[in-house]
Amino acid sequence: MPVAGERPEPFYEPTRGLALWDSTEVDAAVEVLRSRSLFRYYGPELLHRTDEFERRFAEHLEVPHAIAVSSGTAAITTALIGLGIPAGAEVIIPAVTFVGCVNAVVQARGIPVFADIDDTLTLDPTSVEERITDRTFAIMPVHLANVAADLDPLLEVARRRGVKVLEDAAQAAGVRYRGRRVGAIGDAGAFSFQLEKNITAGEGGTVTALDPEVADRARRYQDQGGQFTTSRGQERGGVADAPFVGANLRMTELAAALLTVQLSRLDPMLDRLRAVAAHVRSELADLGLTWRRMPDEAGSGGDLTLLTAGRMEARALVGALAAESVPAGTLYQGQGVYANPAVKAGRTPWGLEWPPPARLRASEQIAGRAVTVSLGAAMTDQDVDRLVAAIRKAHANSGTAR
Ligand SMILES: *Cc1c(COP(=O)(O)O)cnc(C)c1O
Repeated sequence: MPVAGERPEPFYEPTRGLALWDSTEVDAAVEVLRSRSLFRYYGPELLHRTDEFERRFAEHLEVPHAIAVSSGTAAITTALIGLGIPAGAEVIIPAVTFVGCVNAVVQARGIPVFADIDDTLTLDPTSVEERITDRTFAIMPVHLANVAADLDPLLEVARRRGVKVLEDAAQAAGVRYRGRRVGAIGDAGAFSFQLEKNITAGEGGTVTALDPEVADRARRYQDQGGQFTTSRGQERGGVADAPFVGANLRMTELAAALLTVQLSRLDPMLDRLRAVAAHVRSELADLGLTWRRMPDEAGSGGDLTLLTAGRMEARALVGALAAESVPAGTLYQGQGVYANPAVKAGRTPWGLEWPPPARLRASEQIAGRAVTVSLGAAMTDQDVDRLVAAIRKAHANSGTAR
């Protein structure tokens, strides 16, 4: 692999909400700074930006409850605690995903169990069902790269076997599955607003929940068990009679102010990215490429992931794309998330352990064959034309042409 400096810069910025950032975000941030009220629960001239963001995000998703937190990883942990995970219970996650999924489960004192991915690049319902035991608490489909997981078969398995569904929607804010927004379909959802996500404040996250009691527990957990959310008269009640020890995973007013602006850009951005992706695929139709399966393409936020014949072909294509200044990579470098040394060792800070996870070679194989071309939210039509030509050239140069 060439060192970073040898790679030509991409000819467009391969980011989402960040690419659309302008003076509106800056002004929203300055307003919070001038108020000197950066903490969501009190301050000299509190603007209640975090309350506002939670309300707008919930409306956008058409979900009853949204709880803003400090990161996507914090959102997964908080959601599991909201759902009532018992210590040592198992959560089934995809073999190939971001390591934050494992870390979040462990922070909730759960144990990760890895299931296969299929050509949707997330949980395969058959593999999930094989791994459900009486220790299973939840399954966690990951909506990968702005495409919804095929939730219906996963929800069916979960309902039949009596386990919860937590949607990891970190990479899919605003995306729909059969008409509904992801994160509003399972028992709970988790979103990330880290720098490369659809909407961003650098860091940030949100939990969504259908059940008020789950939402109440989540809200308390992220606020030290309810330091501010239970000591204010109007928010008392619910499960207040069964207090528990929490954490501080709160969102700042600054992040929330930025996210409210970013949220207003989300739907037009997803429409544009979906149109760009569809256009590129149709322009390249003559190449006979195999694209990942999208359970709901019309609801997607635009993705260009193709499945090559094998790992070598994928690596050759990524190299050829880089030579054309196209940002691309294989899915998590074609590795299981359990390749992470700490995950492999099953070592947590508190001594809770698990045996070395079995490698899921079929999943590693799919990930190694999956090449994602990153799109940018601010791509012009000219950039898109250039991208089509560059992919065509890279495809010919990589030797994957038939
Ligand atoms: C980004 C991401 C997370 C974690 O989000 P952070 O905000 O970085 O903690 C979790 N799951 C997936 C699939 C992600 O892509």
